[in-house]
Amino acid sequence: MNRSDLQQRQASVRQVFEQRFGSAPTLWCRAPGRVDLMGSHTDYNLGHVLTMPIGFDTWIAARPRAGRLVRLHTMNLDAENSFSLEALAPDSGHRWSNYLRGVAQVLQAEGLETAGFDGVIHSTVPIGSGLSSSAALECAAATVFEALGGWRLEPARKALLCQRAENQFVGVNCGILDQYTSCAGEQDCALLLDCRDLSSRRVRLPASLQVVICDTRSKRELAGSEYGRRRAQCEAGARQLGLQALRDITVEQFRQRAPELPAEVARRCRFIVEENERVLQLAAALEAADFGAIGRLTAESFQGACSLYEIGAPAMDAMMRAMTAAPGVVGARQAGAGFGGCMVAFVEASRVAAFAAAVGEAYFAATQVRPEVHPVAAAAGAGLLALDLPASASGTGKPAGPAF
Ligand code: ADP
Ligand code: MG
Repeated sequence: MNRSDLQQRQASVRQVFEQRFGSAPTLWCRAPGRVDLMGSHTDYNLGHVLTMPIGFDTWIAARPRAGRLVRLHTMNLDAENSFSLEALAPDSGHRWSNYLRGVAQVLQAEGLETAGFDGVIHSTVPIGSGLSSSAALECAAATVFEALGGWRLEPARKALLCQRAENQFVGVNCGILDQYTSCAGEQDCALLLDCRDLSSRRVRLPASLQVVICDTRSKRELAGSEYGRRRAQCEAGARQLGLQALRDITVEQFRQRAPELPAEVARRCRFIVEENERVLQLAAALEAADFGAIGRLTAESFQGACSLYEIGAPAMDAMMRAMTAAPGVVGARQAGAGFGGCMVAFVEASRVAAFAAAVGEAYFAATQVRPEVHPVAAAAGAGLLALDLPASASGTGKPAGPAF
């Protein structure tokens, strides 16, 4: 988004806020979505992921209020909900609000002060497409509570608390990848994350390469139940091999011990062990601008995801064919949990437009669905929104809020 798009977005959020709550917001927080460049399902196996925060993000425009009430409106769903910070319980009728209720609860459980506020949520992260709109919402909410409470959390701790909210309050047993990327991401670089000790190091992508997200726009029907089954199979495999996590075995060692496992569990585990190694190899290949290795590793990742981990879908096959046949492609693979949703390609920066046009055409010809194709760059992690506000959208002429 360029500056004028951002200002327009801000003006429309401000206008909605003024309509709902009668005055302008005083605090603007944001947190990004993410795309995994390599490392499908390695996070809950305590392995590595190469991950990138993206320019799609979730904003919460807020204004503190006296008392313990949080009043919310989400522009994406055109829905409202309120809850008291004194009685935090899930609301099955407004499931989306549980992401914020959950964050409030885990913060309180840590002894951190939470304060009431009015808030308008606006996100450009496609919801339910595998780019982690849920973590972006949690991390933006934690940032609001942080700013209002006058305390600060280290990014890794903030991520862990947001993950706990999603695991325990929302009831989604996700790993740490999404929240870590949203909290600790940095502009202009990918992160090589170690999901065991929650350390990460920056990985610069070659300037001649562009990361392009290709959304199949197919529903991720099986994602919930199959995700849980894959996770249980990995844990069973690790247990049977006497490991704390699949992270703790090399590809070579696994090859020798795989016959100890039931066939399906062995296939799942093999994918994770190989994928984990591919993460480190892809980080090195990107740093060396080794396009051949990038192409090979991403192709192997997709192949393993389909034949060993079985998280593929017909729409993903069609998208993979479209991406790998398009001009300028260097590598392509799945993204997120699989089962549809978004995929990711590395594309020669000078040929992105031709790539996008060809993918659009080929995917439509195969599926009758128009895909979304988004070139993305690495964005900063969760924080206050750095914008100097234009005058009030509704023309009240009030001075702009502070520039953060
Ligand atoms: P993903 O994280 O891949 O986008 P999830 O299923 O994990 O998909 O999370 C999507 C859910 O998160 C939505 O169904 C909704 O409950 C919540 N959510 C995300 N963004 C928003 C938003 N801007 N407004 C309201 N709810 C949101
Ligand atoms: Mg999610």
